[in-house]
Amino acid sequence: MFQLLQSIQMLGSNSSGLLPRQQSVAAACSLSKFLVGESTYLDSSSSGYLNASKENWSQTCWLEARCIVRPTTATYVAVLLKVISFMNTPFAIRGRGHNPNSGFGSIDSTGILIDLSLLVQTDVSADQKSIKVGAGNEWMDVYKALDSLGLSAVGTKEPVPGIVGSILGGGSPFFPSMYGFICDNVKGFQDQVVLSNSKVVYANANTNADLFKALKGGGPNYGIITQVELYTVPLHDVWYGFNVYNSSQNAALLQALVKYQELSASDPKAGVVFTLVGSTTVVGFLYAAHAAKPSVFGSFYDIPVATSLVTPTNGTVQQLSTLVGELSVPGTANRHIFGISIKVDAGLYQDISLNYAKIATNVSSTASLILSYQPLTAAAVTASKNGQNSLGVQPQAQNWLAGVMSWQSDTDTASSQDNANKLYSQIQSLARSQNLLLPFEFQNDAAFTQKPLQGIGQPLLQSLQTVSKKYDPSQTFQNLQNSGFLLSKK
Ligand SMILES: Cc1cc2nc3c(=O)[nH]c(=O)nc-3n(C[C@H](O)[C@H](O)[C@H](O)COP(=O)(O)OP(=O)(O)OC[C@H]3O[C@@H](n4cnc5c(N)ncnc54)[C@H](O)[C@@H]3O)c2cc1C
Repeated sequence: MFQLLQSIQMLGSNSSGLLPRQQSVAAACSLSKFLVGESTYLDSSSSGYLNASKENWSQTCWLEARCIVRPTTATYVAVLLKVISFMNTPFAIRGRGHNPNSGFGSIDSTGILIDLSLLVQTDVSADQKSIKVGAGNEWMDVYKALDSLGLSAVGTKEPVPGIVGSILGGGSPFFPSMYGFICDNVKGFQDQVVLSNSKVVYANANTNADLFKALKGGGPNYGIITQVELYTVPLHDVWYGFNVYNSSQNAALLQALVKYQELSASDPKAGVVFTLVGSTTVVGFLYAAHAAKPSVFGSFYDIPVATSLVTPTNGTVQQLSTLVGELSVPGTANRHIFGISIKVDAGLYQDISLNYAKIATNVSSTASLILSYQPLTAAAVTASKNGQNSLGVQPQAQNWLAGVMSWQSDTDTASSQDNANKLYSQIQSLARSQNLLLPFEFQNDAAFTQKPLQGIGQPLLQSLQTVSKKYDPSQTFQNLQNSGFLLSKK
């Protein structure tokens, strides 16, 4: 109680702007602790604090916030935003902490970390056409909840990313040609968007439709989402297989990838995961039905395989996502990512792989660089109901390249980030010089050094700015949010 009285006293003085920043953050933490409750509050004196500071996927995000608050309802989030606005306190929002850019879902001692991990639920509607999930859920929770019903939802390929974070960045799923992007499969943010003035509002196709569209790919710029309702899809049975090839096959593999992109234009059930991993290349063949050797992957079938990582299997979406998680980059590490999109061209794909090889073989011994080619058909962009989301993807076949650099030792941070940035710049120059560069940069794969909102096109950007000013007139999310792809930093 004494602490609270002190905080309130400080609040009074802060309204005249007299309180030094550190004291103001301390006061905001004390007040939050009192209002939200001790059981959902952590600071450096709490036993679980250090572990909670290290929940982010990348060690580059293991910052020590002044306090970590874990609200359990939208009302608690509203109270926190009231404190934050009044005290002028820097803050960051963490869903599942899978964005590896330092400061996005993390903040140091200058601010409060709002950790949404306790907001978990999976409620399937009576007609099974939708599922309500919390801001603290990961995609595997959804796949599990729907599996026994013979259904799934359109989410990330790996099981662990946060649902809301992936939607705010648009979201790349297994089968984009069938259902579009992840954000296109949101039914609504029902009574669960907390605005900076602490009002809690609906956002769906009929109510606050401008906000609804902005939240689908427009970044973390408008409010804190505590719950989202997703459409379910009648997809349960899938076919998949994963091969490892020697990188000496890359020219043939990349030709095959281009051929696959042509064929998959008329077969929306097809999906491919294609990743350069040092001196090997891993290719996953995915099909949205039980099958046996689908012909759409025919261009790959004659290329010599080094190892069959996963023999062709008929399984379920849940099993496929679990498997992709198991095959993924393991363990804790520092990470730096980048995303860039290009037009379809075998020569460019090959040039990029050669540049990749030069850089990947010269990284530090504790580091590794991988590069994924994510092929998209024009049908994927059309299926995404372009115009109803805020991605600004051009309706043509394309490839979203994603680089991930991982390293262990802090002494390798600068060189690792430099190497990843170097590959990004080389790809950009190569593609631009051949008139094959696209302006779109996928937020979920983009580095903090990139400006993906610039790539969505001026009219869309303008409309996002209008939405931001309408729903956040005090511009709290621009001025006090620690980092992220913010409209004010575009
Ligand atoms: C292993 C791995 C696999 C991945 N696979 C895919 C994939 O297949 N497809 C794909 O599209 N992406 C993928 N991603 C990228 C992932 O979707 C993004 O990094 C996403 O931002 C993660 O969301 P999060 O809640 O886990 O992250 P966080 O770091 O917690 O949040 C990311 C951003 O979203 C904001 N945010 C999060 N929740 C909320 C909320 N409730 N309200 C307001 N703002 C919020 C945060 O402030 C932050 O700016 C993958 C990432 C990893 C690490």
